[in-house]
Amino acid sequence: MNDAHAIRNPAGLPPGSWLGMLGGGQLGRMAAHAAQQLGYRMAVLDPDLNSPAGAAADEHLCAPYEEPRALQQLAQLCAAVSTEFENVPARVMEKLAAERFVAPSAAALAVCQDRAAEKAHFARSGVPCAPHAVLSTAADCAGVSEALLPGILKTATLGYDGKGQRRVASREQLQAAFAELGGVRCVLEQLLPLAAEISVVLARGRDGAISLLPVQRNWHEDGILATTVAPAAGVSVALCRQAQAHARAIAAAFDYVGVLCIEFFVLEDGRLLANEMAPRPHNSAHHSIDSCSASQFELQVRALAGLPLPEVRQHSAAVMLNLLGDLWFDAEDRQREPDWAAVLAFSGAHLHLYGKAEPRRARKMGHLTLTAATPEAAAALARQAARALGLPCHA
Ligand code: ADP
Ligand code: MG
Repeated sequence: MNDAHAIRNPAGLPPGSWLGMLGGGQLGRMAAHAAQQLGYRMAVLDPDLNSPAGAAADEHLCAPYEEPRALQQLAQLCAAVSTEFENVPARVMEKLAAERFVAPSAAALAVCQDRAAEKAHFARSGVPCAPHAVLSTAADCAGVSEALLPGILKTATLGYDGKGQRRVASREQLQAAFAELGGVRCVLEQLLPLAAEISVVLARGRDGAISLLPVQRNWHEDGILATTVAPAAGVSVALCRQAQAHARAIAAAFDYVGVLCIEFFVLEDGRLLANEMAPRPHNSAHHSIDSCSASQFELQVRALAGLPLPEVRQHSAAVMLNLLGDLWFDAEDRQREPDWAAVLAFSGAHLHLYGKAEPRRARKMGHLTLTAATPEAAAALARQAARALGLPCHA
């Protein structure tokens, strides 16, 4: 296959082809596993010598994301390139796109990297989101509508896992929080009464075909995902269908290619609002590896390689518990190894550890998925496993 052909039409890349990944975290690691299962080879670009994905990939290019020589190497080696890291500069993807097929596109990444652009995109897609205002200056804070208070101030870019956010009850608190966040462009959202949080992960191919994973329900602790349950317990089938329809509309409205996650709020009055999106596989769909006919990582590889995106069937009910670094420390702050044998003794326990050498509090070290024939059995198993490890469990 000559280069020009590969750019225009990487459809059905043959096994043995190289796929490229910007970013070497756990998402890249699980993508490498999925790529290798399908006979592809994966090259990862990440500056960390000990990155989780670098260890799993066929080739680790150890360099900063913007290093021209490394990008050139990646483009030379790989027929198609994706990212597992949403803050990779969109211009890097643009540069790669001049030579290789990239998914998602630089334009789609740019939308997902900016909360203001993201909300504008939800509106364009006909999907409601939280009442909000974009604040660029201290004067904008002074003029903000009273209806948005109490609210949550979020930096427009670079926020994740609850970072870059402040709850504010008054204009004075808003001014102070805006300054505290560095005076950077922010979005102020009305604080909403949430009944539940759910997410939808889908993969969309270049032909517009979409594979949907089951709707999952999520619980956070200190801004970090703690528990995911699929199917989404306590959320009606009608609401789940609506979330999936919204997700389809959002993906189609920017001709998205690749795996996309949309987080939604379910309000106490039953309304469904889009919260934010991620242009990549998402922590809340890790259960799909063990509970579905195709995982989110397999879908990512398929979309990248131009393979069919079939309907996904959930074959087991699942609960996922995130394993944060805190679990590696006892009450006296001494480091320890969690009691894996205790949970691996359970039938239906699937342990995923990301190979990170150093446990740190709040660091995502792995996840544990519990599968069973029914949602009730999966929840009971999850509660047992959580007790054995000393973890919170919302199932
Ligand atoms: P990130 O996940 O990037 O840190 P989010 O916008 O998803 O940022 O916010 C993190 C969490 O904060 C949400 O999952 C939700 O629990 C809570 N939250 C965010 N925005 C609102 C809001 N407008 N009203 C109520 N709770 C919110
Ligand atoms: Mg979020």
